[in-house]
Amino acid sequence: MQIKNVTVIGAGTMGNGIAQVFAMNNYDVVLCDISEDALGKAMKTIRTNLDRMVKKELVSQEASDLAMNRIKVLTDTAQAVGSADLVVEAATENIELKKKIFIQVDKSCPGHTILATNTSSISITSLAAVTSDPSRVIGMHFMNPVPVMKLVEVIRGYATSDETCEAVMSLSRNLAKEPVEVNDYPGFVANRILMPMINEAIYTLYEGVAGVNEIDTVMRLGMAHPMGPLALADFIGLDVCMSILNIMYAGLGNQKYAPCPLLVNMVNAGKLGKKSGEGFYLYAEGSKEASVSPKFL
Ligand code: NAD
Repeated sequence: MQIKNVTVIGAGTMGNGIAQVFAMNNYDVVLCDISEDALGKAMKTIRTNLDRMVKKELVSQEASDLAMNRIKVLTDTAQAVGSADLVVEAATENIELKKKIFIQVDKSCPGHTILATNTSSISITSLAAVTSDPSRVIGMHFMNPVPVMKLVEVIRGYATSDETCEAVMSLSRNLAKEPVEVNDYPGFVANRILMPMINEAIYTLYEGVAGVNEIDTVMRLGMAHPMGPLALADFIGLDVCMSILNIMYAGLGNQKYAPCPLLVNMVNAGKLGKKSGEGFYLYAEGSKEASVSPKFL
């Protein structure tokens, strides 16, 4: 199946990265968000990323300008998916919101369109169930930051067809990514393994086994992880980590996935990690350096 026109729904952290990667690989992209502000910020972020790549001589100025010109922005979902061959939904992680988007997209897109979602944890099968043809619905889970990370976790829902799966695997390779096919169970593979490790790191801190720096240093230097689990949790967002753990806890029914009480407390206190300025670390505005939050000294 020929995929040329791609619509990305949601222009936040992930949506702008996904739009950039498609545009850099010669796809025509419509980036759609309900917020004009989010669209403005996304285009700025993409421009800044491309400029950085030009400076580092990773792409030419001409290729960067062409990529930028391939992205159109819209706030109207129906209009945005009108000629899409592929829709990648990357809106806020909320099942009711995503179901509404899938219902609307299904009504407004052509009959051949593949409907993909970038969800970290929501069941692909339950999103597919609100559409007229669940065989065309699939998970396309990009990693953050999208232009840098090679993996695409391709998640087959219960009814996803071989044709849809093959099209998305091959498309991911065209984006110079490495797709890995997995089945639709809570957390898929990436978060099923990552989140219990992050949760255990938080328990290790909560029980006073070691401090923030010590835990992260052990995992960086001892296990060759590029980032410690607490720094990674801050980067992902502590609210996001808690929500994924809760979905795995509810879906798999095992106590081992229940979020650590310290994580729950931090989310309730609004300490969400990097995006809120404080989590396990403190992030001074405008500075790339982070120091351990005074709470954990
Ligand atoms: P974000 O909060 O940065 O962006 C979400 C965007 O969706 C916002 O701009 C919001 O205005 C927009 N939106 C909300 N309702 C909408 C609607 N009805 N139509 C169009 N746009 C709408 O979120 P994010 O971190 O980019 O996450 C997006 C998705 O990607 C989520 O499903 C998340 O689980 C998944 N994901 C996130 C990460 C990550 O590290 N942040 C990694 C992998 C997957």
